[in-house]
Amino acid sequence: MPEKTLFQRIADREIPSDMLYEDELCIVIRDINPKAPTHFLVIPRDPISTLDDLTEEDGPLVGHLLLVAKKVAAEEGLSGGYRAVFNCGPDAFQTVPHIHLHVLGGRKLGWPPG
Ligand code: 5GP
Repeated sequence: MPEKTLFQRIADREIPSDMLYEDELCIVIRDINPKAPTHFLVIPRDPISTLDDLTEEDGPLVGHLLLVAKKVAAEEGLSGGYRAVFNCGPDAFQTVPHIHLHVLGGRKLGWPPG
């Protein structure tokens, strides 16, 4: 068995988190180091490393992650808008090798990002 990723350990409750939502395909947790007043992560249970590792078969899963992001953003009151972003690889500062969709909101977000 390969070693579990950080986010698998969180999904399995081996590491505590502030979990906002979960279903059979994904979990949603608040980011431990938020970059905006609201910052949560939508994480598939499947430990796919990066966006580059997705296959055609993962299309429905990725769609599901986006729909869950929208639902939780509404529950979090992000009616003024929000940003949803996957960091992929070192140039984008991906630090956890298990894909996760960042959702940030609650303030005006600069564009372009740094
Ligand atoms: P990345 O840099 O890979 O795109 O994003 C990883 C995110 O995971 C970061 O925003 C970081 O703050 C968050 N993170 C890292 N470790 C933990 C943790 O143990 N718990 C939670 N809730 N978030 C974490």
